[in-house]
Amino acid sequence: MKYANIKDNSFIIKLFKIIFLILTCILINLIIFFLGDHKGPWGQLNFIPIILASYYWNEKGGLIVALILSIINCIIISGSSVNAFINNITTISFKVLIYLSIAYIVGFIFRKNKNYQQLISESYSISHFTNLYNTNKLFPELDELILKNEKFYLVFFSIINLEEISKYVDFRITDNIINYFIDKIYSHFKNENLYSINNNEFILIVKEKDSQGLEELIKQFINKFIKSVNINDYYFKLIIKAGIAFNDAKKIKATELFNKVRIAADQGKFYESKLYKYDTKFDKERKLYNEISSSLSNAINNNEFSLVYQPIVDIKEKKITSSEILIRWYRPGKEEIGPSIFIKIAEEIGLIKLITKWIATTSLKNYQDWQKRDLEMKQSINISADELLDDSFRDWATNLFNDNNICCESFGIEITERVLSKDNVKLNKVLKELQTRGYLIEIDDFGTGYNSLKTIGEIPFDVIKIDKYFIDKLEKKEIRVILSHIINAVHEIGGIVIAEGVETKEQFKILQKLNCDKIQGFYFSKPLSPENFYNYCINFNINTYL
Ligand code: C2E
Ligand code: CA
Ligand code: CA
Repeated sequence: MKYANIKDNSFIIKLFKIIFLILTCILINLIIFFLGDHKGPWGQLNFIPIILASYYWNEKGGLIVALILSIINCIIISGSSVNAFINNITTISFKVLIYLSIAYIVGFIFRKNKNYQQLISESYSISHFTNLYNTNKLFPELDELILKNEKFYLVFFSIINLEEISKYVDFRITDNIINYFIDKIYSHFKNENLYSINNNEFILIVKEKDSQGLEELIKQFINKFIKSVNINDYYFKLIIKAGIAFNDAKKIKATELFNKVRIAADQGKFYESKLYKYDTKFDKERKLYNEISSSLSNAINNNEFSLVYQPIVDIKEKKITSSEILIRWYRPGKEEIGPSIFIKIAEEIGLIKLITKWIATTSLKNYQDWQKRDLEMKQSINISADELLDDSFRDWATNLFNDNNICCESFGIEITERVLSKDNVKLNKVLKELQTRGYLIEIDDFGTGYNSLKTIGEIPFDVIKIDKYFIDKLEKKEIRVILSHIINAVHEIGGIVIAEGVETKEQFKILQKLNCDKIQGFYFSKPLSPENFYNYCINFNINTYL
């Protein structure tokens, strides 16, 4: 276990204490001298500086002051006469003994008490996960550096996928991964000013480095984790995010600097190891976040949401067999914001269930409207894991379907693969139950999760939606080979494969050859308003695209 340095009191405070003590001693002894009251109550005043010195510097300080006061008292009692000294030897000896004993005992008690206090405050300042100092220590340290106008960098590290990994392995292995990571930081940066924020988040204070050199060093560090690391004979791929922020000796609060570096490390795709340097544009994004979260709650009442539908074309049946419901948010007088941004925020602030209820009710009306006009069209709705796990939400959806006499088979539930990577027994149970009731379970963004093989093997599903990431790389033979295997595997267990984000005829042709079942993408159509979608379906002829 390596701790950051604990700093002592500054020189000025020490000097102040010494001067204060000397002045107290002089004042007290002048009073005693002029009143001639060394035996009476005034004589006891000498205990004040003795106790004070014991408090400041424990036994040592107390004994020194007690000795000095003993000598002064000796002079006051006996003046310059040797006879007076001999006559009062018993009184003097007794007094010296009392002074020294009090100094020693009080100093001893103060020292023990200080050690005890320090032990308590140290235990509050140490993370029990990592044995490193935590934020209780970090913030005072930062405050001190800022007060001294020191220039320094804060570097934030986060092992993004530690929580996911810890679900698959013994907790001791997780501990070993953390210790391995900490040791790597020490050896790479040759710096022990490391603090732990959580068990997977760390902060390093770096002085005496130029920005470029430090950035290069951090990138080299992150690159060490590109290859899997061997811990306890298991191989782990750690995803490392890093952020860097600089204190340029301006007056800034420690918490502000901390937030900056944290925001920096929170940028980018969550499964990508990368270093992010703090930029003021991140603050603008935060402001936008706050603005979105505060106006989201009124969006439903203000009728600002609408739904669009993207057709999904069955290659073999040569027709549109279903559609994906996608939400749009029109904010009068303000820039448009895509659902990938505001849905994430709605999930974070707990508004998603309200929004999904609105989506389900509205899409049901559209479904009934098309039905009346002889268009039977399946719809798939995007649902978060939280919603699926919420019993009251599922009951609400069941009632909605029952009340409207809608058959579950007409609706698909899209759930992103990333949330399925979490080893969630209850979620699996809920998916199985929904599947049994007739809903189609669709795994969205397939291939972006932590363990796609596990998804195919363990998660109940009817449809797999291959993420656009792979469709964009179809020209690569390796990607085609992998996709071909995935498609065959899904077919063998009775599932269907949809390719998402298909934009060109070439991609369409390749997917057809790979035996993919259905296509969704701009090549056929962008998401359309309900009316435009209806017209598109009525007039659809696949020959236009072949
Ligand atoms: P997603 O579920 O993966 O939806 C597909 C996204 O890809 C849609 O973006 C769609 O417009 C876009 N897309 C489809 N084909 C193409 C293509 O050929 N090229 C390109 N470049 N893009 C294509 P959109 O509508 O912006 O939605 C983004 C994400 O927001 C969705 O990703 C989904 O995660 C979320 N989202 C959208 N609508 C809803 C909703 O109603 N509820 C929930 N919970 N999430 C939604
Ligand atoms: Ca989707
Ligand atoms: Ca998707």
